[in-house]
Amino acid sequence: MDLRTPLDAALSTKKEYILALKEMGLRTIEDLLLYFPRAYEDLSQFKKLHEAKEGETVTMKGYLHGIKRVPTKNRKMTLIKATFYDDFGSTCEATWFNQPHLLRTLPMDTPVVVAGKVKYSYGKYTLQSPVVETEKQAQVHTGGLIPVYPQHEIITTKWLREKIHPFMYLTKDIEDILPEDILESEDLMPKGNAIKELHFPTSHKALEDAQKRMAYEELFLVQLNAVKSKKEWKSSRENEDKFSGIKMDVDFVKNFFSTLPFEPTGAQKVAIYEIMQDMEKPFPMIRLLEGDVGSGKTVVAATALLHAVLNGYQAVIMAPTEVLARQHMISMSKFIGEFEAKFPTEKPINIQLLVGSLTPKEKKSVHDGLKNGQVDIAVGTHALVQEAVGFHNLGLAIVDEQHRFGVKQREVLMKHGTPHVLTMTATPIPRTLALVAYGDQDLSVLHEMPPGRQPIETKIVPPEHRTTVYRFVEGKIREGQQVYVICSLVDDSDVLELKSVKKEHERLCEVFPEFKVGLLHGRMKAQEKEGVMAAFKNKEIDILVSTSVIEVGIDVPNATIMLIEDADRFGLSQLHQFRGRVGRGDKKSYCFLYTTSNGQTTFTRLKAMTDFTDGFKLAEIDLQLRGPGEVYGVRQSGIPELQFASLTNGVLVSRVRKAAEHLVENSPTLDKFPRLKGMLVKIRTKLDKA
Ligand code: ADP
Ligand code: MG
Repeated sequence: MDLRTPLDAALSTKKEYILALKEMGLRTIEDLLLYFPRAYEDLSQFKKLHEAKEGETVTMKGYLHGIKRVPTKNRKMTLIKATFYDDFGSTCEATWFNQPHLLRTLPMDTPVVVAGKVKYSYGKYTLQSPVVETEKQAQVHTGGLIPVYPQHEIITTKWLREKIHPFMYLTKDIEDILPEDILESEDLMPKGNAIKELHFPTSHKALEDAQKRMAYEELFLVQLNAVKSKKEWKSSRENEDKFSGIKMDVDFVKNFFSTLPFEPTGAQKVAIYEIMQDMEKPFPMIRLLEGDVGSGKTVVAATALLHAVLNGYQAVIMAPTEVLARQHMISMSKFIGEFEAKFPTEKPINIQLLVGSLTPKEKKSVHDGLKNGQVDIAVGTHALVQEAVGFHNLGLAIVDEQHRFGVKQREVLMKHGTPHVLTMTATPIPRTLALVAYGDQDLSVLHEMPPGRQPIETKIVPPEHRTTVYRFVEGKIREGQQVYVICSLVDDSDVLELKSVKKEHERLCEVFPEFKVGLLHGRMKAQEKEGVMAAFKNKEIDILVSTSVIEVGIDVPNATIMLIEDADRFGLSQLHQFRGRVGRGDKKSYCFLYTTSNGQTTFTRLKAMTDFTDGFKLAEIDLQLRGPGEVYGVRQSGIPELQFASLTNGVLVSRVRKAAEHLVENSPTLDKFPRLKGMLVKIRTKLDKA
């Protein structure tokens, strides 16, 4: 018998159990060994019966006597009783339901260890369905820290404990995939030991060390994948000799800045510098520009686009929706127009929009222009990476508000000569999280907001003040301003969400009969959504009721009020994203957070929204309060599910990152570490499927 032995050969059990295991993805002994407990019950302390409290699960030493079947009114049920004597002279009844086999199998009148829940009623103790082992047996279910496994219909925790235990000796065959010097320098136990300790911990300390070992490996693989992807992207142009980087040009930057209606912030200047430094290299840039809503990413993008074009390359900027693409078209044309007016180029810069709704003829014209080099800059949606699109010499691709511009899309770009790639996101992810979520990219952060922005007044609104707020809103609409209303996810169901947003829409039509109330939700077709957004932008709608699908980055300066229903149901980062939809013009803006919950934690969380305007700060608080899975954008961004590692441990994340970088430097192909290499292939296949 070895790790690869199939479970149907290794276990003596019924077929239905083997099938159930298969459903859980467990086929071999190794799979079973890698099926880890989700928690532990601490039964390491032996109790005396008379010390046990009602409802407590205890482990006791003693012996059982006089087992018998007791008749019950319900004949389908079997009830078994025995008397338990503990080693300290107390006694109680032990009962089991529907386990007739125990009549034959329970060890009587011999030293045993029992573990179970104690009930106390009518002046006496009962031990309910205790697990029993003779003291001589390996204490699988009793003494010590007891594993609690994720269960699956017929596969119970108890069943798993029994089946896994006999294979513990095989853990010695489990190979370490972490290199030895890392195990040594990080003081990590061998993987086989860790797995053994995870199933049947010998002590709290040993369990902790085992978890640490697994967490390290988990993070290491994530980082290794990221570091390796980055390396691969950067070396993807190695065999192209025609590319020699785009020289940094300080004069151009000065000139361009002089045509802007504002002075760029320090953070913007740093980001532009970092980007130009990347573009200078003979290998493609892969950088993420992270900046809160309104931090001014667009002008950074414009600088990079112009820089590429002035050096004879084509450049594209891609947005997730048509509305956003059109918005970019306007801003880019403006920035570039102003520049050209003052610093004319030999041939005017040709900038074109490429989106799905163009006529076939219009599309073809842009396609042709991109292929023959007539078009310098294309602004568009995914239409830019369609099969039909080819480039003359693409030098830079910018991707805006895309939660994850994956390896796959990069492969599409590689067909076009591996341009420099800059992605932009308004999701403020704390740095350590970004290392995991976007670890395959270099990072620039706009930590500073342009000056002179009016803070958005944020208020928590209890139900009794709803009408007051509506009256205030009414006044603002009369002045010509516009309002967003965000409805929360009722639960995970689309259908319910739709129902609630429709109901809210109807209700608001009644509350504000003289205003135009629009509706936006995820079940609408992309084109319908775009239509509604366009109508809102054109002021044909006063109040826009929406689910959380409302676009990040949408710019309607005239919208000054944001109402969020059931605000407590959203994370802080997401609330912050919503709030960023207002406060984009020169008028004072407001954000009202409705909540019916009056719990202290809810209040503390929402209060952070009124206290802080910095998205990074709020994300940090969210991360502490709710964990990484809930930080907005992270779930979509491809962070793998981590079973052991905590992403809040920034120190560890950075240390692991360094180790991964070191390893890839030492063996870029990973040929020196075949097991790691194999593992990486597996991870990538899994990510590709996701
Ligand atoms: P985002 O990062 O959300 O894409 P934008 O690029 O749309 O932000 O910028 C938001 C607004 O701030 C725009 O109106 C832009 O012109 C303006 N802006 C950008 N940078 C500055 C600056 N340094 N000083 C003043 N205003 C700026
Ligand atoms: Mg933007």
